[in-house]
Amino acid sequence: LLGAARARVEAARALNALISLNDRADEQAARVQARLDAGESLPLAGVPIILKDNINVTGTRTTCGSRILANYVSPYDAAVTERLHQAGAVILGKANMDEFAMGSSTESSASGPTLNPWDPARVPGGSSGGSAVAVAANLTPVSLGSDTGGSVRQPAAFTGIYGLKPTYGRVSRYGLVAYASSLDQIGPFARSAADLALLMNVIAGHDPRDATSLDAPPAFHAGTPDDLRGLRVGVIRESLGGNTPGVEAVLQTTLDALRAAGASISEVGVPSVRHAIAAYYLIATPEASSNLARYDGMVYGERVPAPDVAHSMTLTREHGFGREVQRRIMLGTYALSSGYYDAYYSKAMKVRRLIAQDFARAFADVDVLVTPTSPFPAFRRGEKTSDPLAMYAADVDTVAVNLAGLPALSVPAGFETVDGMRLPIGIQFIAPALQDERLVNLAGGLE
Ligand code: GLN
Repeated sequence: LLGAARARVEAARALNALISLNDRADEQAARVQARLDAGESLPLAGVPIILKDNINVTGTRTTCGSRILANYVSPYDAAVTERLHQAGAVILGKANMDEFAMGSSTESSASGPTLNPWDPARVPGGSSGGSAVAVAANLTPVSLGSDTGGSVRQPAAFTGIYGLKPTYGRVSRYGLVAYASSLDQIGPFARSAADLALLMNVIAGHDPRDATSLDAPPAFHAGTPDDLRGLRVGVIRESLGGNTPGVEAVLQTTLDALRAAGASISEVGVPSVRHAIAAYYLIATPEASSNLARYDGMVYGERVPAPDVAHSMTLTREHGFGREVQRRIMLGTYALSSGYYDAYYSKAMKVRRLIAQDFARAFADVDVLVTPTSPFPAFRRGEKTSDPLAMYAADVDTVAVNLAGLPALSVPAGFETVDGMRLPIGIQFIAPALQDERLVNLAGGLE
């Protein structure tokens, strides 16, 4: 399995999906073989997997797509890494990503952009673009990314695969490099609902090392069309309009398929989601400014030397962080500063509460909510790099879910042809907290 996966990685080099290869993979594979020979049964025996480069694996680099961590080698395994090893998976390598998971296109990595296999002139989405391409281009059957505001679901949509953002707390964040801790969640990419279920049953579960971890044992399985009968599906009204014709058409065919299988469809208002982008960027950037304060060249990563320590820290951060990361640290520091805190951060926290309440109200009448994952298919490389607000707006359909801590799944649902290129479209299903299983079940029913 490992050899075949390596050959595919080699063939797909031009896509720039990976930052590094795990040179302990053979050793790990041999250990899995020994366990199999000893009669152990392993749910992911020998399955090669790729992890986003913000998830720690002992003895391998964790760069977060940043120059500041270019040579940082992790001394420990993330909780998900441990669980994958325990299940017999073999970590093949680490995937490219937007620097510190800040972005929607995988263009801001210090390792260069990742290309979309459907059209190399287009982005794969982000920030987990490398992990998405690893699965979409068949380098490995499954991979892991992280989703703070859409970074698993949006690249899944742009590359035509599944991407799940679990309920906040279902997958341990121990060993995931923090971006915005109250929003971050590790999530899987897969090409089938069955693979998604298999992987979630391995990576989800309680971990005392993550103070926000929930004790909810995973019980995932892919459903059948029978499971769709009687399902109450609510289309979020605020997500209609503003989509490309292809996205609208794919949403309609998905609703038709659900109806044909016996689900009931209604339209539901979640009015506060209109403020989700503003609230998200006023919550994510303050958390990021605090989390990234640790990269000063003293403990982690690169250091630019200077005669005095303060100057060295300044130069290290100036040289080590890219433009988008610097912009967000400044935004976040500003929003937290005395005199502005009430107007920005504390206001955003109130909007966050409203969004959670609106979702709770909507779930009184429906089992799942549905929206497009993105208002458009994959955009061209360079199209939004000089316009940060346009890049932020790409997350319009995904960030509210993180603010409310809910689980959501992007399902590959169709295509739109743009300039002669066939581009995948994703549809997002959202469930109440801890009902992640319902999403994977539904996805199986739609296959
Ligand atoms: N695009 C969003 C951001 O830049 C989401 C990123 C993510 O989910 N990691 O913050």
